[in-house]
Amino acid sequence: MKALQKTAPTFGVEFREVPRPVPGPGEALIEITAAGVCGTDVHIFEWSGGYDFMAPLLPLTLGHEFAGRVIDVAGDANGLAPGALVAVIPSTPCGSCAHCLSGAAESCERRSAKGTSADGGFAPWITAPVVNCLAAPNGVDDELAALAEPLTVAQEAVLKGGVTRGDRVLVIGPGTIGQAIALYARMAEAAEVVVVGKNDLLRFETLRALGLRDLIDIGDGDLETALASRFADQKFDIIFEATGVPEVVQEGLAFLRKEGVLVVAGIHPRRAALDLTRLVRERHQIRGTQRAPRHVWPRVLDSLVTEGERIRHMITHRMPLDHGVEALELARTRRASKIILSPGV
Ligand SMILES: [Zn+2]
Ligand SMILES: [Zn+2]
Repeated sequence: MKALQKTAPTFGVEFREVPRPVPGPGEALIEITAAGVCGTDVHIFEWSGGYDFMAPLLPLTLGHEFAGRVIDVAGDANGLAPGALVAVIPSTPCGSCAHCLSGAAESCERRSAKGTSADGGFAPWITAPVVNCLAAPNGVDDELAALAEPLTVAQEAVLKGGVTRGDRVLVIGPGTIGQAIALYARMAEAAEVVVVGKNDLLRFETLRALGLRDLIDIGDGDLETALASRFADQKFDIIFEATGVPEVVQEGLAFLRKEGVLVVAGIHPRRAALDLTRLVRERHQIRGTQRAPRHVWPRVLDSLVTEGERIRHMITHRMPLDHGVEALELARTRRASKIILSPGV
């Protein structure tokens, strides 16, 4: 089969012919029907920093946001029926480290992650542990199921931020994660959700389609100037950083209320400079968030049942897997927001 792989620690990806995987005990063979292109894939494509750990693992098939049909199961199917559409949790704890053995698998230091440390979903077939395959609820189709992974990241960020009814929320970064954070903050009954972007017409269109109205495009200016007139005296309870631009953290803190929470969700290629005296005096809380624990997945699949048609607006492009390189180029140059690749097309 042809798989879209990172083959060398430098700019680029390429299609390579690789053997179709064979499921081991406790694994399912899945025919991938939809795979999302993520900012992570773009970073790895560009090799712009943050993924050096992958170098010794290459060549490796990219793609960690994917769904597909169960074709075969080796061993106990655990209720998975052949043909069932599943969303796949891409990350698997090792099961044998001290964290895993003490029941804290979320903290496993040796987890394997499809698309970054094991072969991922930009291929027609993949194997995955049966326990990582979650049946899509009725009414959730392939492309929506492929959105589950980025949605869990956003839902987890909103839970980390502790958004509750009446909160005033600022989301910096209008990409898929920022879009979904804004949506889940709304669903958590935040009173106000403001999303900030920078020269981002396309992604603002997506945000509007999602029903978000309070959007600020800072254009070529800086965040502080753009927000100062409106929010200097009306600070936010919770701020989400979803840009990967480290300077945004310091700038954003100027608009966080005393004891407010700033959640950092982006992957940053550089260090940030922070005014720690202000942080201490304002008793600001900075929290990091990354992948979601398993228990967040069913909650997100449920949200796809109730909000699926709204969430579908996040998908701006649908392309055949063969056009994967072109898709990464589109995403890299921000001419697409979320692209779904389908091997069968
Ligand atoms: Zn992703
Ligand atoms: Zn472990």
